[in-house]
Amino acid sequence: MPAALDPGTHLSTPTDGSLLDRAHSRWAEIGLSLPDLAPAIALQESLVARTILAVDRLGHGGPPIVNLTPDQAADKLRAGTPVLRGERVALPVALLEPLLLEACDDLAVGGAGDVARRVRSCLDEGRININSLLTTSFDRNQTAILGKAVHEGIAPDVLWLAAELAVGPAAHVAQRGLLDPDGAAPHSSVIGALEAWPHGYCPACGSWPAFGEDPDRSRQLRCSFCGAGWRPRDLGCTYCEDGPDHVTSLKTDPGLTHRATLCSGCGAYLKWLDLAGPTPFELLPIEDLASTPLDVLAVKEGFGRPSLPDLGGPERFPCQMVDPRR
Ligand SMILES: [Zn+2]
Ligand SMILES: [Zn+2]
Repeated sequence: MPAALDPGTHLSTPTDGSLLDRAHSRWAEIGLSLPDLAPAIALQESLVARTILAVDRLGHGGPPIVNLTPDQAADKLRAGTPVLRGERVALPVALLEPLLLEACDDLAVGGAGDVARRVRSCLDEGRININSLLTTSFDRNQTAILGKAVHEGIAPDVLWLAAELAVGPAAHVAQRGLLDPDGAAPHSSVIGALEAWPHGYCPACGSWPAFGEDPDRSRQLRCSFCGAGWRPRDLGCTYCEDGPDHVTSLKTDPGLTHRATLCSGCGAYLKWLDLAGPTPFELLPIEDLASTPLDVLAVKEGFGRPSLPDLGGPERFPCQMVDPRR
């Protein structure tokens, strides 16, 4: 079975309780080794608990978020198009809207303060159509969301992040249904097309990976938004596809196996974490946080995380995000 389809990725759908228990034990470990991260851990405690609940609810019933046959999904993959891109999306807005508003509240308490409260007020006042916002986030149309935020005079990065936190669980459930269905083997055409996926961006949603997971047994990239896992193309840069001669490696401690790969071509870095097994989607932010020392070191060396890949723009939102109530 290909690494990208390892059923361990969602660990036989563990219960809310076991995932939350696992999260708390990781936070305790991180808090001990990296006490400066206490405020970030406090913020994650609300966000991750909400994500766990949302995935559980979304995974039990309701119409499919995206309707695509395995052969259609495989055709898109073979054409280099992430399967969720440009599809008609049926988001359960009633379930996701509270996640959006509560994410604003958490970000306000977690350090963004009045900046996040103003975003929440803007949403409460109906100045942004929630369905449109969530659908645009699902489609990874950052330009439209940032443009809308600027138009409304609110913080673009907070609006983008709150929408991403709210809609990520839906993107995860949608990609899982297509690429890694619960209790069923993926269609052979999808397996073949995923195996041949040559890109560094996510085959489901088109985002860059949050990090890569080692060891080689389950070596895969993990999407920062929808949690999909896929096999890296080769030893070159994940982002700009420069060859291996442009890529070097960096460790916080020579004795550790965690490392960051740095690309001199595009100036971006990617973390590779030596984890015992595939991380459940809901816990990806925790491993990202736990490896903060690698981010700090890579940034100190002058490297950064890249902005979203430009895949030629979404098909359904050619201009700016539209508020139909205006
Ligand atoms: Zn993705
Ligand atoms: Zn590069």
